[in-house]
Amino acid sequence: MGPWALIAARWRINVATPRRRKPRPGARVEDAERPIAAWNERQALRAPMIFSPMIGAAIRAGYWFLWVRCPACRTINAIDLRTLDRHADAAVTSLIPALSCRSCRPNAPFAELVRLSRTSIADEMRDEHRRRVLGE
Ligand SMILES: [Zn+2]
Repeated sequence: MGPWALIAARWRINVATPRRRKPRPGARVEDAERPIAAWNERQALRAPMIFSPMIGAAIRAGYWFLWVRCPACRTINAIDLRTLDRHADAAVTSLIPALSCRSCRPNAPFAELVRLSRTSIADEMRDEHRRRVLGE
């Protein structure tokens, strides 16, 4: 069982073969950049949700990872959106009910969406380690 399988098991996510969808000709990746950045800012401020990026738009813009936090145990996980069997036009918020923390069952609160990211938690930890080693 690989690391993703463990995370998927923990968060009760159905793991499917990643879909390799080609963007339609003329589809503009940068169109998704600004709303995703704005959404991330609002999430950081814990501002009330007024809109949500679509799963497919986040993937196309390279924001493959949805970081989620369990409000009870404070565990943070990064879900790879490319591995989910969900409709591309579903909002990332539609994933919330499936993301409740397994450790906190049976009374797990709904997961909080932290941000959409181009990096996984493992990537961030590697970068952090590199920065510390190199003294950056
Ligand atoms: Zn928890």
